[in-house]
Amino acid sequence: MPGFEIFGEEEKKEILEVLDTGVLFRYEFPEQRKGVYKVKEFEEKFANFCGTGFGQAVTSGTAALKVALTAMGVGPGDEVITQGFTFVATWEAILEVGAIPVFTEVDATMNMDPEDLKKKITDKTACIIPVHMLGAQAKVEEIVAIATEKNIPVLEDTAQAAGGHIRGKYLGTFGRCGTFSFDSVKTMTTGEGGMIITDDEELWRTMSEYQDHGHDHKVNPGARGGEGRRFIGSNYRMMELQGAIGIAQLAKLKSMIVAQKITKNRLLEAISEIPGSAPRELVDPEGDTATFCCFSLRDQEHCSRVNEMLRAEGCGAINFAENSWHFYPAWEHLLAGSTPVKSGWPFAEPGGKRRVVYDKEVLPQSADIIGRTLVYPVPIKMDSQRLDDMCAALRKAKTL
Ligand SMILES: *Cc1c(COP(=O)(O)O)cnc(C)c1O
Repeated sequence: MPGFEIFGEEEKKEILEVLDTGVLFRYEFPEQRKGVYKVKEFEEKFANFCGTGFGQAVTSGTAALKVALTAMGVGPGDEVITQGFTFVATWEAILEVGAIPVFTEVDATMNMDPEDLKKKITDKTACIIPVHMLGAQAKVEEIVAIATEKNIPVLEDTAQAAGGHIRGKYLGTFGRCGTFSFDSVKTMTTGEGGMIITDDEELWRTMSEYQDHGHDHKVNPGARGGEGRRFIGSNYRMMELQGAIGIAQLAKLKSMIVAQKITKNRLLEAISEIPGSAPRELVDPEGDTATFCCFSLRDQEHCSRVNEMLRAEGCGAINFAENSWHFYPAWEHLLAGSTPVKSGWPFAEPGGKRRVVYDKEVLPQSADIIGRTLVYPVPIKMDSQRLDDMCAALRKAKTL
């Protein structure tokens, strides 16, 4: 990660095809565009890559979550369960549709703990969102089994794991739908952008209409102005330049993952020599995208000592307990219910009564795991001297 490391001639060629027509927009202008429909082509290629029926491109991964939740009918009065270790976007989207996020523990996969999920389901649960964090799989088969028994749809937030799979079945295809992000730090990027994939044609149709002001997209003589609509929508349309970049990046996705795996394996070899260390548990190592290399240590004290030494060697790792964007206890704005909206929405109802109050202490298992885990982002192009230095620093940590 990220995909812009290998931005090259292929992306430029795709972009130039759009610029040659002058049509930067995914809909309309049938004559001028000379058959070029980059966003549509990207949607079809992405869905096909994942082995699913339909792709819906949108403006971001956050928009993908919002469009998917809305199309599934989720809104005020509903609860949506996700994990307490994710990027803020997951629960921002839940709040944005008016539902209330409920957080589960993560387990040694650093993703949703299915046992804790069972405890968090109520008769208000309208959707379950496991997140395939840091490039690797949540226990999504177990999660889907639990959800199916209760008749609750699963949406997989696959923003960080495009190209990941479990025994050949791609992430994002286990639940009712899966969402992706192509922002600046993701494995494949379109600058900004997102995608939703699903096998459910009716759900796809609803998403497609909602993200385009409700246009029903049926061929009619009055062109777009004459199209019908079934419900109110909004605008989350991806533009042609993004679709063009997406096509080129998708073609490189498999080779990006291969390159990352080689680097990750070298790091893991060095890490394995640290007594008390353990690599992150993977549901299927073959299907890992290797965009991150995570390992846990005996306890938080051991973890701090190891990272202090790594920092002194110029090779410090990320500890997500020290990062304010990805882990529940550090989301002070969620905990405090901070919002620019006068009424206090979405934390309070109109009138000011608090709808939900969050307690910092409710995820002790996650706090333990996140607190003693170190994480390296794995670049696609790794400088070999840098990799040698990192491995040497990790081997020094053996004595701590
Ligand atoms: C990046 C990310 C998103 C949001 O994607 P954007 O394209 O930045 O809006 C959602 N969920 C997770 C887990 C992410 O990492």
